[in-house]
Amino acid sequence: MADKHHSEHPSPAELIESLLEGNRRFRDGARRDRDLPAEVAAHVGGQRPPVAIVGCIDSRATPELVFDLGVGETFDIRLAGAIVDDAAIGSLEYACGVAGAVLLLVLGHTACGAVKAACDVAAGVDVAGDRLKHLGAVVEPILEAVSAETSTTTGRDSSNDDFVDRVAELNVHRTMMEIRDRSKLLDGMIREGRLEIMGAMYDVRTGEVRVLDRS
Ligand SMILES: [Zn+2]
Repeated sequence: MADKHHSEHPSPAELIESLLEGNRRFRDGARRDRDLPAEVAAHVGGQRPPVAIVGCIDSRATPELVFDLGVGETFDIRLAGAIVDDAAIGSLEYACGVAGAVLLLVLGHTACGAVKAACDVAAGVDVAGDRLKHLGAVVEPILEAVSAETSTTTGRDSSNDDFVDRVAELNVHRTMMEIRDRSKLLDGMIREGRLEIMGAMYDVRTGEVRVLDRS
């Protein structure tokens, strides 16, 4: 079997298809009946997840749930807004560069609170006040995605659901670019075909995950 990823894992195309099948089971109320203690026991000796997912902290967009996954199947990095910082990129370098994950999925979602905050900040609203001293670290990277959304001319704030969701999608592309810009290791692996990076959006209304076109 030809395998340009030289990996014991399925190909990234097979992996994303399997994730989407899991998402269908999740939406159909047909999640796998798992023997979780057996899965725990099966992974005592180590882990080799084929997938790393960068997602948001949102309680509705939990990768193991929405993709119907079990123990040892994915590395998850979750910061508000599906952004990455130095520690997140270091974690991804470990997940893909050392532990052998071959698919890196950036998973944004609709109605994202962090994206809404960035939309409002860009519109001149003081969302943080004196209390949320560190909110800037979450909002600041997303502001670039707000600027990149040029199709909306009025209602460019958190009250406009369509605008917020378009910004969230652009923010997924932005995070994908940032990962490649900031990590020589990961960018090199992607160029060499040893790692595939994909973006997707989770819809909090339907539970559906949609893979994004390449930008
Ligand atoms: Zn979110």
